[in-house]
Amino acid sequence: MYRFAPSPTGDMHIGNLRAAIFNYICAKQKGVDFILRIEDTDTARNIAGKEEEIKEILKLFGISWQHFYVQSQNLKFHRQMALKLVSKKKAFACFCTSEELEAKKEAAKLAKKAYRYDGTCENLTDSEVLMNEKPFVIRLKKPSKTMEFEDLIKGKLKFEPEAVDSFVIMRADKTPTYNFACAVDDMLEGVTCIIRGEDHVSNTPKQEHIRASLNYDKKMSYAHLPIILNEEGVKMSKREAHSSVKWLLDEGILPESIANYLIMLGNKTPRELFTLEESFEFFDIKKVSKAPARFDLKKLLQLNREHIKLMSDEALCEALGFKDFKLNETLKKDFANLAKFYTQEASTIKELRAKFALIFGKKDFGEFSAECELILKALKDLNLPETYEEFKTSLMKATNLKGKSFFMPLRLVLTGSVHGPELAELYGFLKKFLKFRE
Ligand code: GLU
Repeated sequence: MYRFAPSPTGDMHIGNLRAAIFNYICAKQKGVDFILRIEDTDTARNIAGKEEEIKEILKLFGISWQHFYVQSQNLKFHRQMALKLVSKKKAFACFCTSEELEAKKEAAKLAKKAYRYDGTCENLTDSEVLMNEKPFVIRLKKPSKTMEFEDLIKGKLKFEPEAVDSFVIMRADKTPTYNFACAVDDMLEGVTCIIRGEDHVSNTPKQEHIRASLNYDKKMSYAHLPIILNEEGVKMSKREAHSSVKWLLDEGILPESIANYLIMLGNKTPRELFTLEESFEFFDIKKVSKAPARFDLKKLLQLNREHIKLMSDEALCEALGFKDFKLNETLKKDFANLAKFYTQEASTIKELRAKFALIFGKKDFGEFSAECELILKALKDLNLPETYEEFKTSLMKATNLKGKSFFMPLRLVLTGSVHGPELAELYGFLKKFLKFRE
């Protein structure tokens, strides 16, 4: 069983999406269920609407799930498990105030030592606990021996008990901490492999320790994915626009291209261009590189152009905004072919829409107004010839224009822009639309 466990606390980062995609692929390869779990226990950071956004994004990528949970629904299980740990003396109530803990952290800092919980409340007697009316948290006692686990990407990882520490599993308001809720849910939901970002590596021994303390002995596999660096080689922060999946989609980069790119990032794939489904055949989580991956927007855009070329006429016309125009099949094909031709200049759906707006929208002829009018007039009477050569010659003859004062205005009339692809090539694609001109 695999799961994707996003927090509804911000825009989905490409690192999160990569984890979702990898988990999904592995679930498909193994023919097991895939869980979507919204980790909403950090209530102060939850953002309304993000849960829906996460679901919509996953659907756009063709990622479906068999089980869906919102973590807070499991609160009663988290409390039950915490109680069990306390009654087995594996966890204890801690009454230390945040001021007391802060002072100890400060002292550790001054002494240049790593702060560790000092065990103040670990050995309180039952009556000391029961008689104390102060608010308390529950801490899990630190492990007694080195924790080890095998990571499918990073290899063997070891953590000393000190690094795990006696950490908090339930807050004073009786809600679970992230590590506790996550470990308990993964256990209850029968998750067998966790694929997530490497920022969670230090949480893993804690989560393993929680399950071991609950006597859960089923083996969990892990794959911690290396961070994604930006083009400058620095960790891609949430503030960088193109780290947001929503931003990439809004820019008109297709989900197919983003998935293709993320599967390829820091990985060896048998070819460059593929769909998510096709990757089920060859994807191997163990082959993902240990080294941080560097995000390359140019490469993503190049893949996007290729995926645009692979789109069906129907899908491309819909993406371009022609959904409500009731185009017939021929016209759909003509629009799609024109768009595909324009991928030599436009890398995204947004850029293609801008090109189409120039070609089919109202044009500003500026300094070439007079020449453009002449060309437009000549166009009206022209029986459109097969080849560009004939087209050009007839128009030149009819307008008496030549050189720059013919070609620039002709480009403007045809495309709404003075620059662009070779007119000789473009003519074949635009000809079909010229006959609709007034
Ligand atoms: N909720 C965590 C996050 O969004 C993921 C935790 C996990 O995958 O274990 O970073």
